[in-house]
Amino acid sequence: MKNYQIETILSTNRKPKPDSAHLEFGRTFTDHMFIMDYTEGTGWHDPRIIPYQPISLDPSSMVFHYGQTVFEGLKAYLSEDGKVFLFRPDRNFNRLNHSNARLCIPQIDEELALEALKQLILVDRDWIPQAEGTSLYIRPFIISTEPHLGVAPSENYQFIIIMSPVGSYYKEGIHPVKIAVEQQYVRAVAGGTGEAKTGGNYSSSLKAQEVAEKVGYSQVLWLDGRENKYVEEVGSMNIFFKINGQVVTPALNGSILAGITRDSIIQLLKHWNVPVVERRISIDEIYQAYKDGVLEEAFGTGTAAVISPIGELLWKYEKLVVNSGEIGKLTQELYDTLTGIQNGTKPDPFGWRIEVNPENTAKDMHSGSLIY
Ligand SMILES: *Cc1c(COP(=O)(O)O)cnc(C)c1O
Repeated sequence: MKNYQIETILSTNRKPKPDSAHLEFGRTFTDHMFIMDYTEGTGWHDPRIIPYQPISLDPSSMVFHYGQTVFEGLKAYLSEDGKVFLFRPDRNFNRLNHSNARLCIPQIDEELALEALKQLILVDRDWIPQAEGTSLYIRPFIISTEPHLGVAPSENYQFIIIMSPVGSYYKEGIHPVKIAVEQQYVRAVAGGTGEAKTGGNYSSSLKAQEVAEKVGYSQVLWLDGRENKYVEEVGSMNIFFKINGQVVTPALNGSILAGITRDSIIQLLKHWNVPVVERRISIDEIYQAYKDGVLEEAFGTGTAAVISPIGELLWKYEKLVVNSGEIGKLTQELYDTLTGIQNGTKPDPFGWRIEVNPENTAKDMHSGSLIY
C-alpha cells in the first residue's frame, strides 16, 4: 500500500455523543473532518484530518454563485462483534470523479480518498452507532473556492469529508410511501447534469417535492425531460418495478444517476436468477401493467434508505395502489439481504463489504500524530 502523508491534528475538545435512539439525519457531526486543497498548477495538496470546524471562504468564492460542486454519500457500519464496514466505497470515489469530469473539477486520487476516509473513520470510530439499522453517514464533497465572479472553471477547490451518525431509516418498520408522478417539473435532461451528483440537481428538484408534499405525497416520480413520458427516478433514488414476475429498471440514459444500490440490486437479482432488465419504461406501460393487474411491486433504491417500497402512485388523478399498499415479498428480501451484507450479519458473496481496521489502513503517517 502507498504511504499517503495525511497529517492528523486531533481535537482536544470532544463533543458529547448523541443518543442513538434519537438521531436525526445529518444534524450532528463527528469530532473530525478530512480536508485537502487544490491549487491550479500544484494540484491537490495538504491532505489532512483536523477537528470538525467551520470553513472560512471569500464571499466571491465560485461555489456560492455558479454551483460548481459535487458530492457523495455512503455509510460505515459497526457489526455486532465490533467490526467496522464500508460498502463498495471505491464505487463512490470513482463516481465522484465522474461527477468531477462533468463539472470541470479536477480528478482526485481515488485511492488517497479511500485511505483518507479509512483514517478518518478510525479517528472517529467511537461515533459509529451500533443499534440495529443505525450507521455513520459519510459525506465527501468538493467545492470551488476561487474568489472570482467570472464564469469559468475555478482554479481552487477544497475536497472535504464529514461524517454524521444516523438512526434507523425505518424506526417504525418499513412503510411503503406514496409517490406523485410529476408532470410539470423535470429533474434532469439528457445532456444535462443528471448523471452527476451535484447540488444543482437537488436545488432544482425542491419545488416539485414541495408541491407533492402539500397534497400528501412524500416524493415525486420523475419523468424524462424531453418527452415527459419515460420513468427516470423517484425523488433522489433510482426506481425498480416488478411486472409480471420480471424486475425492470430504467436503463442509464445520461440523465439518470448511476446508483451503487441500483447496481447492487441488479447483481443480487441476477445472482438469484430473478429476471431483471434495464430498459426504457414509459409511464403508460406502468399504468397498463397496473390495469392488467401485473404491477406487482415498486421500490426506490439509494444509500440513505437502501430500499424504499412504493405503495401508491398518483398519475393523472388516479391512484395506482401497488401490492395493496404493502411491501412486496421480493422488495423485503432485497432489503434484508442488502442490509445484512452491509452490516455484517449476512454472507457477502460479492466482496462488497470492506472492513476498516488499523491493519489495512496506512497509519505510518506524519510524525506519529495518529493515536488509535
Ligand atoms: C445518490 C443518488 C441516487 C442513489 O445512489 P446510491 O449510490 O445508491 O446511493 C439515486 N439518484 C440520485 C439522483 C442520487 O443523487
